Amino acid sequence: MIEPTSPRPDAATAIFNLPDYRVTDTEIRSFGQRRVSVEATVESGCPACGVISTRVHSRRPQRLRDIPVAGPVEVIWAKRRFFCDEYLCPRRTFTEETNQVPRRARSTRRLRDALVAAVIGSGRAAAEAASSFGVSWWLVQQALDSAALTLPDVDALAPRMLGIDEHRYRSVRFFRDPATKAWKRYEPWMTIVDLDTGQVLGIVDGRDSEGVGDWLFARPLQWRLGMQVVAIDPSAAFRKALRMWLPRTAVTVDAFHLVKLGNDMLTEVRQRLTQQVHGRRGRSIDPVWANRRLLLRAGDTLSDRARNRLNTVFATDDATGKLQAAWLVKEQLRTLLATGSLADAAAAKDRMQTLVGQASQPETHRLWRSICRWWKEIEVLIVIGATTAKVEANNTAIKHIKRTGRGFTDPRNYKTRILLRSAARTAA
Ligand SMILES: [Zn+2]
Repeated sequence: MIEPTSPRPDAATAIFNLPDYRVTDTEIRSFGQRRVSVEATVESGCPACGVISTRVHSRRPQRLRDIPVAGPVEVIWAKRRFFCDEYLCPRRTFTEETNQVPRRARSTRRLRDALVAAVIGSGRAAAEAASSFGVSWWLVQQALDSAALTLPDVDALAPRMLGIDEHRYRSVRFFRDPATKAWKRYEPWMTIVDLDTGQVLGIVDGRDSEGVGDWLFARPLQWRLGMQVVAIDPSAAFRKALRMWLPRTAVTVDAFHLVKLGNDMLTEVRQRLTQQVHGRRGRSIDPVWANRRLLLRAGDTLSDRARNRLNTVFATDDATGKLQAAWLVKEQLRTLLATGSLADAAAAKDRMQTLVGQASQPETHRLWRSICRWWKEIEVLIVIGATTAKVEANNTAIKHIKRTGRGFTDPRNYKTRILLRSAARTAA
């Protein structure tokens, strides 16, 4: 090997800073547009025999898409074609390639990396990233797809706990497919998350559990046998299906969804009571309505001021005391979920039954029936909650991914994005 005589690149090359390339010329064109001519500084091997050649056959200019360098630039690469001088090699000539611009690529790697970072890192829509880099939506999509190929192999991981979560929009929504220009509707999807690491392992289309079953069956048997716990939304049909797919795995419910059941119950009670007392829906003049969010907050985390405000609400706008009774049921459910042993959980459940009896409303009774139907799964939650406190933290991660998914104008490739984003988060 011959060492380069001058390790210091010239000023233009240093400023342009494209690895393995040297700036040979710059030109200011009309409207101030800059054209940068480059040539590769690395040797290329023949793709057929691998032998490096230095005998140039011809040079052909190729336009490259690249990141803006202090403003947009047009990059022209004087791409060389070499003779292959290897005896017996069937290939007579070949064109060079570099790490930045592999064979057949027409954009630099640093541009593709920047596009992926813009979409995954900041959660921007592909179309938005495309316009800010002055490239097509399609190129952004291609960059995302090829980045997805480098994701870790799910079957090589050995997750112990899975969380399966459904994602859907509250109302039917449509989007315009950027490729075909046709209107399509957003379909719900399910995410499968490793609850130990928070990494999204899979995303499955569809509102039913069938897709998740197919996904689980595609995993190796050892992988499925290693699964200890699966956390799901409280859905009876889904629970039944899981018992079939993973008969030896304990099923649990997400604490997040149970807390939500309690909050939904309280909201329904509040709305019904307002109708009964005022004969209309809640208004901002009603203390109960004005403090509707305060009612849903965890009672044990309230400041003294918030606590006083809540007591005032119960004293002034809850003549029957039924709202406070339902609030106590919601709080007891939270207490129950925070217990660390099955004995404590059973005692908390007894106390909850007493409070449900005192509240005695259709909504509190319904919540109680749900808790009883899911008691086995709640017990699993209490047990694993005692050994790992990560489940709650991961709910936040899942919610974040959900929000990111919502920000996209086209959900065609939400799978790629959610997986990439999650992999980036896990690696960080
Ligand atoms: Zn060759």
